[in-house]
Amino acid sequence: MIKTRFTEMFGIKHPVVQGGMQWVGRAELASAVSNAGGLGILTGLTQPTPDDLRKEIKRCRDMTDQPFGVNLTILPTLVPRPYGEYIDAIVESGVKIVETAGNNPKPFLPKLKDAGIKVIHKCTSVRHGISAEKAGVDAISMDGFECAGHPGEDDVPNLVLLPAAANVIKIPMLASGGFGDARGLVAALALGCEGINMGTRFMATKEAPIHDNVKAALVSSDERSTSLIFRTMRNTSRVYGNSVAKKAIEMEHEGKTIQEIGPIVAGTRGKVVYETGDLEHGIWSAGTVMGLIQDIPTCKELVERIVSEAEEMIRGRLARAVAA
Ligand code: NAD
Repeated sequence: MIKTRFTEMFGIKHPVVQGGMQWVGRAELASAVSNAGGLGILTGLTQPTPDDLRKEIKRCRDMTDQPFGVNLTILPTLVPRPYGEYIDAIVESGVKIVETAGNNPKPFLPKLKDAGIKVIHKCTSVRHGISAEKAGVDAISMDGFECAGHPGEDDVPNLVLLPAAANVIKIPMLASGGFGDARGLVAALALGCEGINMGTRFMATKEAPIHDNVKAALVSSDERSTSLIFRTMRNTSRVYGNSVAKKAIEMEHEGKTIQEIGPIVAGTRGKVVYETGDLEHGIWSAGTVMGLIQDIPTCKELVERIVSEAEEMIRGRLARAVAA
């Protein structure tokens, strides 16, 4: 067992969190992670409407009696989304943990805090972490340049980002981006964090509700298999480096607008990738941690392996290093 301020605050057994992932963060995965003693998180915007989110929360609750959360990401979208109504759905469903991401969570905090909800804010820079802490969130998930999805525009990897953040942030912090095994968890603890957040690693599990071809691609790809799209729009996103990502980058460099690129990068196309296993149908998020993924275990096997190997490493190799 590895106990931290994060596990105590959120009432979970292991310091391992499955962060929000568009199309992937559904009840099957979130409940499996929570049942494994970690913290599973449903992705709010994966549900087309706030009412669908209510139904998904209920479905997840039927699949686990352990704590789970809901992610709400506030970033540019091709079709406007009613964030306030998604927050209402979360509050009214009695969820007690929310992961905010993509933008300043301050406008949503009064409603969430009044409902007794603990908020983990995911951000990609020290300054945004400080401002979220000041605004009153309960924990920070600090997302380094290694991550899948949106790494921000500063390009600072976690070996520097995490201790720089830990120097100034007092509330519990999760390490996010590039984490996938016990070595990552031990490093995260050493760098000043109280747990790890994993996305891509959890996609390569038996319970992840995505096509087997995607899982096989996560295993066969390596740490160089991602592309960064939307750099020119200051909305950088790390995705699997397929032909669609390369085409989007080419169009960006030709000066095409998001309206012109939209038809190939739309999330609705990425959804089809996960459903059909056609890896070239659209863009889909994946992190550099692909270089560390070698199998497709159950969530329980994965979480328990990470925690037990981390414990062994701390008691064994690291303890021996100082004893000598
Ligand atoms: P979408 O179909 O609305 O947009 C596709 C992509 O284009 C997204 O990455 C989006 O950020 C980007 N985009 C849209 N309008 C833009 C603009 N005006 N300028 C620059 N970039 C623009 O996205 P979706 O797949 O339905 O996802 C919904 C939201 O969730 C998006 O903001 C997406 O980035 C975000 N997201 C969240 C997670 C998560 O883990 N929570 C993962 C991936 C994406």
